[in-house]
Order: sequence, then C-alpha cells, then structure tokens
Amino acid sequence: MLQFEESALPSPRVQLNAGPVAEEAVLRRVNVADKRVINGSTDVNQLVPFKYRWAWDKYLSACANHWMPQEIQMSRDIALWKDPNGLTEDERLIVRRNLGFFVTADSLAANNIVLGTYRHITAPECRQYLLRQAFEEAIHTHAYQYIVESLGLNEGEIFNAYHEVPSIRAKDEFLIPFIDVLTNPLFKTGTPENDQKLLKSLIVFACLMEGLFFYVGFAQILALGRQNKMTGAAEQYQYILRDESMHCNFGIDLINQIKLENPHLWTAEFREELNVLFRQGVELEYRYAEDTMPRGVLGLNAAMFKEYLRFIANRRAQQIGLEVLFEGATNPFPWMSEMIDLKKERNFFETRVIEYQTGGALSWD
Ligand code: FE
Repeated sequence: MLQFEESALPSPRVQLNAGPVAEEAVLRRVNVADKRVINGSTDVNQLVPFKYRWAWDKYLSACANHWMPQEIQMSRDIALWKDPNGLTEDERLIVRRNLGFFVTADSLAANNIVLGTYRHITAPECRQYLLRQAFEEAIHTHAYQYIVESLGLNEGEIFNAYHEVPSIRAKDEFLIPFIDVLTNPLFKTGTPENDQKLLKSLIVFACLMEGLFFYVGFAQILALGRQNKMTGAAEQYQYILRDESMHCNFGIDLINQIKLENPHLWTAEFREELNVLFRQGVELEYRYAEDTMPRGVLGLNAAMFKEYLRFIANRRAQQIGLEVLFEGATNPFPWMSEMIDLKKERNFFETRVIEYQTGGALSWD
C-alpha cells in the first residue's frame, strides 16, 4: 500500500464541501465560454470541458494513424541503391537532396512546436494535439535517419546539407526568424503587435513550411515509388505525407480560430505582408525544384513544379481567407491527392502493415 507524506496530500483548498474556501475553488472551475486559443485566462491543464473539439478529434485521428519507420522493409531499396545500374544519376541526386532537406526540417519543426508554439497556445485541446504532433516530428526525423542508414549514405554530407546546399539553406534561412520569434524567452503574446507576430509564425509554419516546402520532395520520392523504385522510402514518405497534411490542416484550423477570436489582427497591412511571404515561399521552393532536377527526370521537370507550387499556394491562401495569388493555376499531379488520403490497411505497395488502432493487451504476470 502506498504511503503519502502529509505534505503530499491534496491541499484543503481544492477539497469540495469544505466550507467557504471550497466555494472559491468552484468558482475557479473552467467555463467553456472563457477558453481562448491565445491569451486565455483559464487553467491550461484542464482538457475538459471541451471547446475546441476539432483539435481533440485531430489528436484522436493522429493517434489512430500511428506508425514506426522500422516496420517498413528497406531490402529492395538497398539492393537497388547498391546496383550501379539500379538508378540514374539524376534519380540518385533527388534521393540525396531530399534527405538533405528533410533530415533536419522535422527537427526545426519540432523545435518550433516544443520551444515556441506550445507555450503561447492556451487551449488545452490544441496543446494535446501539439504534443502528438511533436512526437510525429520525431518519428519523421527517425524515418529519414533510417533511410540514410539503410542506404549507407554519407551521414556528414546529408545532415549538413542545410548548411552546405544553397537551395536548402535558403529555405531554412527564410524560416528561422519565424521560429526565433516564438522561442525567444522574452516574447509574450497579449499585444496586437505580438499576437500578429505569433499568427504570422503559425501561418509561415503551417502554410509554407509544412504546407508548401515539403511538397516538391514528397512528389519526387512518391514519383520514384510509382515507378517501382525506392518503394520502402516511398512508403515511409507516404506515411509522413499523411501526417504532414494533418499538421498543416490543424495549423490552418488553429489560425482560423485565432482569427475568429481576434478579428482585429487581420488588417489589410497584415494580409499584404502575408502575400509577400507566400510569393517568397513559392520562389524558394521553385529554386529548390530546379536545383534537385537540373534536367527532366521520372516524367517530372521543374516547370511542372512551378505550376504545382502555385496551385498549392493558392489553396493554402484560400484556406486561411487570403485572396488567390496565382489566378488559374492547376494541379499537374492529381495522383498526389490519393497519396494524402492513404488508408493504412490498403496501401498500394502491399507491404507489411501493423495496425495500432486496436491496441495490444498488456499482461501483468
Ligand atoms: Fe510536421
């Protein structure tokens, strides 16, 4: 039997039916109407009563989609990579550049959530999702590391690509100031100026980092998979794409909820600033596409990506209530949408799949 020290017992202040102090405690109970996504005054430790059920539902869906990198067989990828005639030089460049960007990108995303965003969000339902998202960023970094290790790539080269490859460096340099704002220990929300800074960082992260900067890389590796090449890596990317599309959608819901609760932040000047950032994002990702595909490869070329990025940027802009940026842009890769809607039990590579949704029974023997 457990023994409590006297001091570890609950304070009488939080015991109910204990006289006038208890009434004061009851008044401190969280009222749904008082919850706010930012600058909330209620207790951030009380998940219920729910107000932001969309966030809780996304947390549940994310848990139901759980996967781990080691479940995926990499033997065919390893054989293909080692075969001197297995892949063209252009295909190998795509794989190396892809991993060069992604091995550190999800780490930056994790820093942004754990050290930045989390402490500025006052809705416990949203914090619960952010905790799950942070773990998924760790799984993604694990997946990229697992591919690098499986293929026996030069770790120093891949993990330093974000310092050494200009097209990757440029994307990260664009992002880092928006992470630094939120991770600065002196930064606090509560003024219109600072609330706009937070909102801008959330928009850059959801719409441009997770919603745009990942998509050239995802489309390239999934195009390899569709040609029956690097199918293990492609399967990992499919799971990552599914997670990332949920991160992006959660971020967009979060942004729209903040807008709803704080309409004064959404000024014409602010929207104009966002337009400029969206155009910069498209330009940076297009430069990355050109750098990773100096020639056409896998039926893809940089020009197709220009159209694809404009199409995605339009969609992200509309999702947060901005005007369309690139009138008439269409989707040259409709097959990417199928990839996002992947159902784990029927994935098209027909490899081994472990279901987590039912859970395993624990034995206490
Ligand atoms: Fe993410």
